Amino acid sequence: MHQTHGMVEERADPASPDAGRGSRLVSVVVPVYNERDGIAEFHRRLAAVLDRLPHAGEIVYVNDGSTDGSLAALLEIRAADGRAAVIDLSRNFGKEVAMTAGIDHARGDAVVVIDADLQDPPELIPELLRWWEEEGYDVVYARRESRAGETALKKLTSYLFYRVIGRLSRVDLPPDSGDFRVLSRRAVDGLMRVREQHRYMKGLFSWIGYRQKAVSYRREPRHAGKTKWNYVRLWNFSLEAITSFSVLPLKVATYLGLLVALFAFCYGGLIIFRTLAFGSDVPGYPSIMVVVLLLGGIQLTFIGVLGEYVARIFGETKQRPLYLIQDIHESSPTAGSRPVDGRRAP
Ligand code: UDP
Ligand code: MG
Repeated sequence: MHQTHGMVEERADPASPDAGRGSRLVSVVVPVYNERDGIAEFHRRLAAVLDRLPHAGEIVYVNDGSTDGSLAALLEIRAADGRAAVIDLSRNFGKEVAMTAGIDHARGDAVVVIDADLQDPPELIPELLRWWEEEGYDVVYARRESRAGETALKKLTSYLFYRVIGRLSRVDLPPDSGDFRVLSRRAVDGLMRVREQHRYMKGLFSWIGYRQKAVSYRREPRHAGKTKWNYVRLWNFSLEAITSFSVLPLKVATYLGLLVALFAFCYGGLIIFRTLAFGSDVPGYPSIMVVVLLLGGIQLTFIGVLGEYVARIFGETKQRPLYLIQDIHESSPTAGSRPVDGRRAP
């Protein structure tokens, strides 16, 4: 509590270049991975939006190990705009972790998370912020009305994913929403206490609870560059989501096992009865094969399911930092020192 007050006072420092624009700071976190061709346009549009806000703004670009010269483009942006900070991760850690690094670093009273490819229109930010500021919502997320420029297959798989995860887990995952959202300071503080390695951010955004609000918008096609998703990545992502938020697959093994055992018990009884009544008969090879193969298949499948969870336990027990930082290029108005191992205490 005291800490929060201290930070508010610090932000209202009259020496700050943005001091005349109200005491609240809005941070925008942008994960960037190979976005060289689109990032300048993105920044232009984002900066225009921030210019019109009644709040001071900072932009936290997280370079997630780009290999296409995005870092140079980001540093150029930072040189021209004092609101931009660049966090350069030591390698590609994936979008979830890149967002986490940016959120850890952001100091705003509200934190906006947005993609760099202009699929999330920066122009929607004032509307999202309005719900935070005027209505006191802690999480205001954008829900896409249309998915222009995405294939029917991507739309179908996305639809199926949300239905499956919705059934399997107890946290409510709103369908058709990406990571584009505004988080209040207490929502961010809550999120920063969740340090699990296998992060499915959309699930975590929902897990923290608080008052959440959806705002609809039209999703644009990518402005430049291409998506980093492919179906293998999406499949792994879905597994991550399911195993992070549901243990139902483990229970399925138990109940299916019970069902099979019950069936075997009845079937065994039937065989004993038949043998006693009619004597034994040699034929039966096909049915034995079927039962053996079926059981073998079920067992292998659930050993695999178990393995998924064990692998996650393994990942967590190593307690590695979530990310490592190569360099931090602070924004000019809010310079300060930062921890470098991604494990800042809550
Ligand atoms: N991204 C990232 N690290 C990655 C992959 C993606 O930081 O390993 C960023 C990317 O630069 C973009 C955002 O995450 O700002 C969304 O990526 P993308 O557009 O590829 O995902 P999609 O919109 O297709 O879900
Ligand atoms: Mg995209």
